[in-house]
Amino acid sequence: MRHLFANILFVSMAFSFLGAAYGQGKGLVGISMPTKSSARWISDGTNLVKHLKDKGYTTDLQYAEDDIPNQIAQIEAMIAKKPKVLVIAPIDGTTLTDILKKAHDAKIKVIAYDRLIRNSPYVDYYVTFDNFKVGVLQAQSIVDKLGLKAGKGPFNIELFGGSPDDNNAYFFYNGAMSVLDPYIKSGKLVVRSKQMGMDKVGILRWDGATAQARMDNLLSAYYGTERVDAVLSPYDGLSIGILSSLKGVGYCTAKQPCPIVTGQDAEIPSVKSILRGEQYSTIFKDTRELAKATVDMIDAIMRGNQPKVNDTKTYHNGVKVVPAYLLEPVLVTASNWKQVLVNSGYYTEAQLR
Ligand code: BGC
Repeated sequence: MRHLFANILFVSMAFSFLGAAYGQGKGLVGISMPTKSSARWISDGTNLVKHLKDKGYTTDLQYAEDDIPNQIAQIEAMIAKKPKVLVIAPIDGTTLTDILKKAHDAKIKVIAYDRLIRNSPYVDYYVTFDNFKVGVLQAQSIVDKLGLKAGKGPFNIELFGGSPDDNNAYFFYNGAMSVLDPYIKSGKLVVRSKQMGMDKVGILRWDGATAQARMDNLLSAYYGTERVDAVLSPYDGLSIGILSSLKGVGYCTAKQPCPIVTGQDAEIPSVKSILRGEQYSTIFKDTRELAKATVDMIDAIMRGNQPKVNDTKTYHNGVKVVPAYLLEPVLVTASNWKQVLVNSGYYTEAQLR
């Protein structure tokens, strides 16, 4: 009996040793993130590292601070360390063609993370949210709050787009316009500036100060006596700038309430703004889920299995359609923030008060 126990003990110890050794030996994953200036990318990086370490990978996480040559240099340094996989959220999706060729020559798999990498055949997979739907949800929150479906209007609206070098920006804008266009055509929504289309409304590098300056100009040129009722903003960092501009000319007071301003990422300053009744909505993208889906993808690739994808037609990167796994974005307003952001454990209530 004692002999049997000793044997079982030995076998189980051997297995756990092998398990640990296997876990440690899974290899390096390089993670290249665009910037720390927005909280979402910090969570993305932290969550990726956590899930990868749990599965036994080592990681090299770098942030490029929105500087394109910096991102390329960081990826180059990662390639020299011979990772198995590179996970890249590009600053400018069109600037990585040469460096991805180097990754391919070194037999490294590449996953485009959240933002598509364009103009390269060497993007193996793409993991992101349903970006068109983000825009749809943003626009629907405007339509619902204004009561456009019930025939109210006309209302004045101004449009903002994301960074023209980020493929997502076009999906957000097109998704939003798929909802807003019919109301613009029927005259129930009026863009007084007539500035429409990503070439006119895009904000380079998603910069809040640039959005604020553009809103200042719109207000002084087109809204001397008229009121702006809604502003389509694709990202919380822009929404904060837009709201500052509006407050500067007397909006967001009892006499002159804020227009309906949308957003994205459920960043803490914007959720607080929603709770104060300023920003109207944002979009929650659970970066924990995105990181988990990415790590599952990496694990499948490493085992020689087919990673799970649920979209094989939407994301053409200029060279090929990149197989993608899309997660669902969720609209957040003052009526569901607690359920979506706190009950899910993403934030504590104290962080948002
Ligand atoms: C992301 C958004 C983010 C924006 C600015 C986009 O590519 O999908 O979640 O708001 O970049 O960082």
